[in-house]
Amino acid sequence: MENNCIFCKIINNEIPSYTIFENDDVKAFLDISQTTPGHTLVIPKKHRDSLLDFSQEDAKNVFQYIPEIARAIKASNPDIKGINLLNNNGEVAYQSVFHAHIHLIPRYSEQDDFSIHFSENQNHYTPEKYEALAEAIKTQF
Ligand code: 5GP
Ligand code: ZN
Repeated sequence: MENNCIFCKIINNEIPSYTIFENDDVKAFLDISQTTPGHTLVIPKKHRDSLLDFSQEDAKNVFQYIPEIARAIKASNPDIKGINLLNNNGEVAYQSVFHAHIHLIPRYSEQDDFSIHFSENQNHYTPEKYEALAEAIKTQF
């Protein structure tokens, strides 16, 4: 339990939540904002500030349940045509609660209340630029 962490309080039932799945590793509950109906958060029972703090074991403990939870959400409503998975790490990446969480956002149509913008910047890249970027990352493992 991390001091004053709202999601640790949800895990400890100090704050109520609409829980849809829970075991020793994770808790999955409805996001209060309901960006689209069924919008769910999956959180590790062990406090981690963000995904960047996960060990391989932490990752296994959380991600192994995601497909199952996603399938249950989809099966709950025939109008759900797809599901976006979203995980924000850091304020700049829109993280507002610093207990790691994965959003599962049911999609009803391209005009529902969720959207992502992907810019197409391929025209600004040369093979050398791609190579330098890949090199800078792969040497960090
Ligand atoms: P983030 O912006 O950090 O990726 O997402 C945090 C999410 O937590 C937001 O979508 C927000 O609606 C949700 N949230 C914040 N406080 C509560 C709460 O007390 N209960 C529930 N169920 N969701 C919360
Ligand atoms: Zn926490």
